[in-house]
Amino acid sequence: SNANLFSALRAAFPADLDAVAIECADQLGPDGQALRYSWRDLERGTAMLANLLLSLDLPAGSRIAAYTEKSVEALMLYLAVLRAGYVYLPLNNAYQAAELGYFLQNAEPAVLVCAGKNFGWASKLAFMAGTAYVFSLNEDRTGTLLDRAASQSDQHEIAPKEADELAAILYTSGTTGRSKGAMLSHGNLLSNALTLKDLWDWRPGDVLIHALPIFHVHGLFIASHGALLNGSKMIWFAKFEPRAVIQKFAEATVFMGVPTLYVRMLAEGALTPQACAGMRLFISGSAPLLVDTFEEWQARSGHRILERYGMSETLMLTSNPCRGLDGERIKGTVGPALPGVGLRVSREGGQPCGVDEIGGIEVRGPNIFSGYWRMPEKTAEEFSADGWFKTGDVGRVDGNGYLTIVGRAKDLIISGGYNVYPAEIESYLNEMEGVLESAVVGVPHPDFGEAVIAAVVPRPAASLDGEAMVATLKRQIANFKVPKQVFVVAELPRNTMGKVQKNLLRQQHQDLFA
Ligand code: ATP
Ligand code: MG
Repeated sequence: SNANLFSALRAAFPADLDAVAIECADQLGPDGQALRYSWRDLERGTAMLANLLLSLDLPAGSRIAAYTEKSVEALMLYLAVLRAGYVYLPLNNAYQAAELGYFLQNAEPAVLVCAGKNFGWASKLAFMAGTAYVFSLNEDRTGTLLDRAASQSDQHEIAPKEADELAAILYTSGTTGRSKGAMLSHGNLLSNALTLKDLWDWRPGDVLIHALPIFHVHGLFIASHGALLNGSKMIWFAKFEPRAVIQKFAEATVFMGVPTLYVRMLAEGALTPQACAGMRLFISGSAPLLVDTFEEWQARSGHRILERYGMSETLMLTSNPCRGLDGERIKGTVGPALPGVGLRVSREGGQPCGVDEIGGIEVRGPNIFSGYWRMPEKTAEEFSADGWFKTGDVGRVDGNGYLTIVGRAKDLIISGGYNVYPAEIESYLNEMEGVLESAVVGVPHPDFGEAVIAAVVPRPAASLDGEAMVATLKRQIANFKVPKQVFVVAELPRNTMGKVQKNLLRQQHQDLFA
């Protein structure tokens, strides 16, 4: 049998190919109704795109880079790349020229598909990187990619693949440094998708609201595979719009979002238990979900958000339980390891940590990537001698196997010889009146090695006093953990994925005690 991921997705299409597979919530079709795609449209569109790619006579293993706006055609391009047996390489559409140049030079794709508005400069960068073909694809279904695909046959036999063959390269978000290309195989993707189908209890009648970008794991794989593998309809948002999404809850059952999406929906009066009555599952991941957000969401919607944890290199690793009977959804934790995923927490020297002891999170399983693209030394460094992948995240596992993440290893602070875990200090700051969010980092200090400092963002209309906050913390936690200074700032530096970039905060304040 064929281990091509697309084979499994295609086999899950419903028998009635004319049923709606994707309904666009923010785009109208020619008839003035919501733009809709049937399963047949997906079958034919991906076949034609796959045939177009095959007509280019590309070498095996060619990377096909997508630097486009979110659209159903862009999703079809991904599926067509799988189908044709090439390697999909999605790029964040917020990247600018210097960034695109780096990725093209690094990944050397044979084909670049980009938005028409960027064609002039992007094709020039592609030319310099040796990319043979550049096509355009616009949000409104125009561009040379679809023009060329239109004359292709709509019959295509799915390329045979082994489970360990490369399906996609996903560049990490670049939160801690330069993005690395994680090489993911058909088997990595399919095994994780099947595990989640079962664990999250995908069932007939489920409808997914898809409001995430499709250039990273969460939106491209976890959300899309979930719906496709269940033959479920997607309600598709090219752009997240909180009020419109809440309105669509009445027609859906599953929603996936990063924490900021939940925060933005909480600001809408329309978010009520009635609006969410038909929903079965709210999932959050990609960044820490604040306990505040979890609790407010429960009060306002009647649902406990399911938090899960994963990364580009590993796909999903842990998840809070889905079915009530299987255990409790515990706020602040990311749940136990998924079935089939090995999870352990290790000390610096590699010895295993005890229950509740903080250490480096290490994982293994059929979902773990094979390595970083063209970085064999980096790959070797990040695997332990006995083959476990070191995630770079730090956490602890409780007696019931629930994992709590306390931060990234690179963000740990050692002050005067003591370990300080930023997440702990942040949780105290976040509890304080008028604090919206906070970030704690270490900066060089002549006596302590590193000194703890914090940046806090006030809630709208609140005013904060950094010195008073330091005084409050001194009564709550050990002195070595108390920030030497608390800066009140309008916002935290974030990357295009919305993740807080602590390296920038550190840089900004590196001379504070110099
Ligand atoms: P880079 O590796 O380039 O520095 P990145 O690690 O942010 O960037 P991703 O692979 O997109 O790139 O993100 C994975 C990381 O996101 C995880 O290692 C973890 O730190 C964080 N993360 C994901 N889910 C959660 C979660 N539920 N809670 C806390 N952190 C999470
Ligand atoms: Mg990472």
